[in-house]
Amino acid sequence: MLYTSTRDNSIRVSAAQAIAQGISEEGGLFVPCELPAFSIEKIKEMAGMSYIDRAKTVLREFLTDFTEDELDYCVSGAYRADKFSSPAIAPTVNVCGNKNILELWHGPTCAFKDMALQLLPYLMTVSAKKTAEGKTIVILVATSGDTGKAALEGFKDVDKTKILVFYPVDGVSPMQKLQMTTQEGGNVAVCAINGNFDDAQSAVKSIFTNTEIKHTLAEKNMMFSSANSINWGRLVPQIVYYFSTYCDMVNMGNITAGEEINIVVPTGNFGNILAGYYAKKMGVPIKKLICASNSNNVLTDFLKTGTYDRNRDFYTTTSPSMDILISSNLERLLYHISGEDAQLVSSLMASLSDEGKYSVSADIIGKIQSVFDAGFASEADVMNTIKTHFDKYNYLCDTHTAVAVKVYDDYVSATGDDIPTVIDSTASPYKFSKSVLTAVLGGKTPELDEFDMVDELNKTTGAEVPTPLASLKSKRVRFNNVCNKEDMSKMVFSLLKLD
Ligand SMILES: *Cc1c(COP(=O)(O)O)cnc(C)c1O
Repeated sequence: MLYTSTRDNSIRVSAAQAIAQGISEEGGLFVPCELPAFSIEKIKEMAGMSYIDRAKTVLREFLTDFTEDELDYCVSGAYRADKFSSPAIAPTVNVCGNKNILELWHGPTCAFKDMALQLLPYLMTVSAKKTAEGKTIVILVATSGDTGKAALEGFKDVDKTKILVFYPVDGVSPMQKLQMTTQEGGNVAVCAINGNFDDAQSAVKSIFTNTEIKHTLAEKNMMFSSANSINWGRLVPQIVYYFSTYCDMVNMGNITAGEEINIVVPTGNFGNILAGYYAKKMGVPIKKLICASNSNNVLTDFLKTGTYDRNRDFYTTTSPSMDILISSNLERLLYHISGEDAQLVSSLMASLSDEGKYSVSADIIGKIQSVFDAGFASEADVMNTIKTHFDKYNYLCDTHTAVAVKVYDDYVSATGDDIPTVIDSTASPYKFSKSVLTAVLGGKTPELDEFDMVDELNKTTGAEVPTPLASLKSKRVRFNNVCNKEDMSKMVFSLLKLD
């Protein structure tokens, strides 16, 4: 299996190269040249397997330059039973009727990013051994909250790696901030920036492609890579759980093998939902992928009209991991849907970067709409949804999951399409205790500090508090750097002690 770039499809690299490098030299994203096909018989066979074996079955097709031993080392290390609070790793739970929830937050940082970022360090170190000649890999991360912590936890003390995380100073929840600033490990650093996630992401991308910085690193036998979902190694582990939830839906008797399901995804950078698209293309019987946004609804507008326009107000919401106006992975979808038209993708991305917007043809948006539906939830919708779902079904959603649940309910009302459906749940409610407790109490926010808020939410709802969050209380804050976005590259040098 070889990979090419969305902006230059004459490029051919191995999986190891794509993962170690993170982003293609001309700024495009790596994509597989072709997709492996799974028959329904093969998917039925996977229903009898553990999560680890399901993962190996899918990943084997994409990582053809990894040996069977390497694959086993990576996957078995990532999804070790003691790192996840559910033996199923990513359990599917029936809420009522055809409404099911795929819980992707049982990993060590309590958000779905763990599903990929527990595996990525293994993939990265094996890939670097194959392609990067003993260089130390410097992982630069821009985070809207959850990627930062999940990447820090995945890469901490991993030999031959360093990791630097930048987060928007006012753009993350108190729990997310504490998770990052208390991070342990000898190869980690964390810095807040005065700006929002898009500022952080753009600055990281420009540091990546800055040749002067690259040379300085090369002299020290270091190279940059990315743990954001622009890295193929972040996306490929996410394809697995769409196979896995389908298998579980069959095992639970919710569907018979071959029957179609809908998937609903709370979306920010378009990585998670794109993994669902790949799963569909590979043979998982998925009818519609429903893209759920919060008030930063740039994707809803694009999927409804074919015009992507980021020139709009940016809102800081209660679902901060989705506060994004530049959804990087849409580039990969445009590449596939346009029939691998790298020239078109390059010109759309140039216009996004120059004017902040682009429009696609009626043909392209028509093809996209045959697979994707879209909607968004306001802040009031999120609060109401958390409360009604808890009161009616005794199921406690976090703020991101609530966005998806609301958009799904609207979709069913508008279309009548109520076939068996899986809604991705992307974070533990305890990562956003203040918002979730306020919602459950019908709009009253108690005057409590973060950890008392956690206790109160536990008392009010009975939902279990994840151990990794409870244990943060006794941890020391190690990082309190703040910098301006213009100074990020200076900060990188200083954190790497190269200045
Ligand atoms: C990252 C994140 C999302 C958005 O996922 P994308 O792959 O960026 O679309 C949604 N919910 C939570 C809790 C997240 O951490």
